Amino acid sequence: MEEDKDIIREKIENLRKQIEKHRTLYYEENAPLISDYEYDLLEKELKELEEKYPQFASKKSPTEVVGGTVSKGFSPVVHPSPLLSLENVYSEGEMNDWLIRLKKVVERDDLEFVGELKFDGLSVALFYENGQLIRAATRGDGTAGEDVTQNALHIKDVPKEISFKNGNLVVRGEIYMPIKEFKEFNEKREEEGLEVFANPRNAASGSLRQIDPSVTAQRPLSLFVYQIMVCSSEIPPTHFECLNLLRQWGFPVDSFSRILKNGKEIADFYSEMVTLKASFPYDADGIVIKLNSIELQNRAGSTARSPRWAIAYKFPPEQAKTKIKDIVVQVGRTGALTPVAILDPVKIGGVIVSRVSLHNEDEIKRKDVRVNDTVLVERAGGVIPYLVRVFPEERPDDSKNFVFPDTCPVCGGRIHKSEDEAIKRCSNKNCKAQLKEAIRHFASRESMDISGLGKILVDKLVESGKLNSISDIYFLKEKELSEIDRMGAKSAKNLIEEIEKSKKRAYARILYALGIRMVGVETAKILAEKFHSIDLLKKASEEDLIKIEGIGPKVSKEIIEFFRIEENIKLIDRLKEAGLTLEGTKKTEGPLKGLTFVITGTLSKTTRVRAKEIIEELGGKVSDSVTKETNFLVVGAEPGSKFEKAKKLNIKIISENEFYELIFQKE
Ligand SMILES: [Zn+2]
Repeated sequence: MEEDKDIIREKIENLRKQIEKHRTLYYEENAPLISDYEYDLLEKELKELEEKYPQFASKKSPTEVVGGTVSKGFSPVVHPSPLLSLENVYSEGEMNDWLIRLKKVVERDDLEFVGELKFDGLSVALFYENGQLIRAATRGDGTAGEDVTQNALHIKDVPKEISFKNGNLVVRGEIYMPIKEFKEFNEKREEEGLEVFANPRNAASGSLRQIDPSVTAQRPLSLFVYQIMVCSSEIPPTHFECLNLLRQWGFPVDSFSRILKNGKEIADFYSEMVTLKASFPYDADGIVIKLNSIELQNRAGSTARSPRWAIAYKFPPEQAKTKIKDIVVQVGRTGALTPVAILDPVKIGGVIVSRVSLHNEDEIKRKDVRVNDTVLVERAGGVIPYLVRVFPEERPDDSKNFVFPDTCPVCGGRIHKSEDEAIKRCSNKNCKAQLKEAIRHFASRESMDISGLGKILVDKLVESGKLNSISDIYFLKEKELSEIDRMGAKSAKNLIEEIEKSKKRAYARILYALGIRMVGVETAKILAEKFHSIDLLKKASEEDLIKIEGIGPKVSKEIIEFFRIEENIKLIDRLKEAGLTLEGTKKTEGPLKGLTFVITGTLSKTTRVRAKEIIEELGGKVSDSVTKETNFLVVGAEPGSKFEKAKKLNIKIISENEFYELIFQKE
């Protein structure tokens, strides 16, 4: 018996150590080594042991303490009341147990709840004084957080001024990175050889907790607010009314929240959200169920770590175990060499996953990934496959260490690695892999949108020597194309027409399509606005560029570097020769001036990208999210959550046809 207890004590201590290690990786370094689900299982195991053997309980145990700390470099902010974390459940059974416990605690049977989505981001407290944002803080250890006011001021979604002006207000919310933005952001980082983030939450956390607020300013962060913590005026008696009030005051509040009357309605809400999950523009990892009555919330109270009146009901994890068959190296547009694991195909969240990026050599070492290893793969944010970890205990004798090639696997060119990058690059300017990627980028939807010039065709055109540079696209002949394997006369003709059409694309889009390193869609727009022709941009000095808001020193260097390369100058000359317009007309004035549009759903007559261009050409603005400032929501087929939000905010909703009528009137 005594011996058993020793074993149990050791087990408990072990679990605590493991949990603390993973908490540091998760909260401090934004680089977890296990999945959230596995982490929750560790905590759950520890909690059960501590409950069964109370003699080993400790106030310092991770089950008693909120995860996270205040990093050096930030001033601490003491919260007006603790920012607690939620307890998790994973099944309807556990959910019902919680309901039974809660009913006992508050001594009531007829409880009403509010169901909300649980956003996977970074918890923050926002402080307002007479309507002005005066402070923003992270959760930290729950009692005190980090002062991130300067960073929050740069986030568009964080209201700097609200309509509640009577004294103090502290609200709690979640800073997150929308999935689409996360995907682009990570792709860009991978291409730049920077460390990539495992999921949108880590990206949001890493982006907000920047010592330099101008870095935060360039990250695509958003906000949802979900709780009033302190208010000088009296607040409504229910949580649901508080959410409406927050909305009225000007905060972004999610529109999925609803009142639930019993366990059945909670279960239905859960299944509905599981089904809808894939369509959310943000990452949600579960639902949160809260008591609706604030009075009963107070009666239920909290433990040191979590409130008793709320619980997180997590979605099933989107992950699966599989085997690595091989590790290959891919060559990107700028020559970046990315190791990719080829997997035994496995279904995750309804999608077959057969490859997963390993990002770079350091990442392979950090996770100790080998060929033939069994691994856990997750779809981060429900989209991008991500290798969570390997199972070393299942490693077969024939597992093989990955050896990075000495030369480019495509062209045999020399490999180069600069000191400040984790990534290696092929340094051959004529590398075919790079050329193919550059052409693909140029023809892609967001660039020149040349439909018909897809991956396979680009491969064939480069391999057959018909495309030796991006500009060759504009000198292709219909006859030449129809000679290509399986390309009929009709598709050849169509492609030539598409290429011809693309000559009319706006200057900002061409700038983006050129593929200058670190110049994304938004940066290209800024550049096009500041420099009305590519010749002016070419003449700009690094100092000129750095001065522009939204252009950092790294981007400036890349732009200068781009124009230093002779091939690029030749490319620009040939594009001009082909008839592309590499200059813009300044259009901040126009019939849509002062109007903000949001587009949701699929448009039938044009792409969203083009619709955005049309609005901007007419002087209007297009925003990604519906706020009080939105004038019109344009609704296509299968609209997303923006539709509901616009209805709630009484925003004018127009169909695609009404949109065309509106712009033709204005044109
Ligand atoms: Zn190469």
